[in-house]
Amino acid sequence: MSRPSSARPGRRRETPQPKDTDGFRREAKKHLGQNFLHERGVIEKIVQAIDPKPGDAIVEIGPGQGALTFPLLDRHGALTAIEFDRDLHAPLQAAARAHGELRLIEGDVLEVDFTALAGDGQIRLVGNLPYNLSSPILFHALEHAAAIRDMHFMLQKEVVERMAAPPGGKVYGRLSVMLQAYCAVTSLFTVPPGAFRPAPKVDSAVVRLVPRAPGTIGIRDHARFAAVVRAAFGQRRKTLRNALGGTMGTEAIVAAGLDPGARAEQLSVADFVRLADIEAA
Ligand code: SAM
Repeated sequence: MSRPSSARPGRRRETPQPKDTDGFRREAKKHLGQNFLHERGVIEKIVQAIDPKPGDAIVEIGPGQGALTFPLLDRHGALTAIEFDRDLHAPLQAAARAHGELRLIEGDVLEVDFTALAGDGQIRLVGNLPYNLSSPILFHALEHAAAIRDMHFMLQKEVVERMAAPPGGKVYGRLSVMLQAYCAVTSLFTVPPGAFRPAPKVDSAVVRLVPRAPGTIGIRDHARFAAVVRAAFGQRRKTLRNALGGTMGTEAIVAAGLDPGARAEQLSVADFVRLADIEAA
């Protein structure tokens, strides 16, 4: 899957900000989606949901000023974190020493090869994600699903609703089908804007994704599946016959046991798997 160039975090010339006593600048960088968690109860709930066990290889995306990192280190002793903002690298490393062993990858999460990071095992991905990069990060993780045991992410509530949506409603779309085809998706709890500094304009939610075992997914041609789902929802108000016109014929839709007059939002994930496999056969 290719990444839109707009998904790359911009490198900007920034006005130097005064540092606090712990070395962190208090000014958040909006273009990096920085909304730092400060509500202890919420942080505790996230750590409980992750429930780290000895031997787990935990990888945090966007540790920021350590709101989740330090409690996780206190409980687990060691973790890997990936942070793009170079102003945060030194203060994070310094503050982490009091909590445990932090292995910091200094760079863009979209450039990180999770499969290589997992080695022979599997990683557990966690993070309060930069909301402007949510979808690219989710699709990047899907490419490495076999190397990931589970994921716990804080995201915009509306995005979590789309991820977990059942067929039939307005929010069910490409993101729902792509994620649910490869993962069990569970929305865990919502978090109000006041839990962050600065407060975002939207509610947030924590979601758990557990990748399905590769043998149980049932998709033969992954690129074909992605193309069919994209085409079907690209023009979601159109019937399948019209939306998929450039991708497959009406006979193929009928052969998959589907009504060519139906709309994409009426199809289950299993329907999409069948539809893509008819053409892949
Ligand atoms: N985990 C911290 C917390 O909960 O307070 C910070 C969360 S903040 C919503 C998102 C973090 O992701 C920021 O620290 C930001 O600098 C970082 N970030 C943004 N884009 C990134 C990228 N492409 N790769 C890695 N980290 C990124």
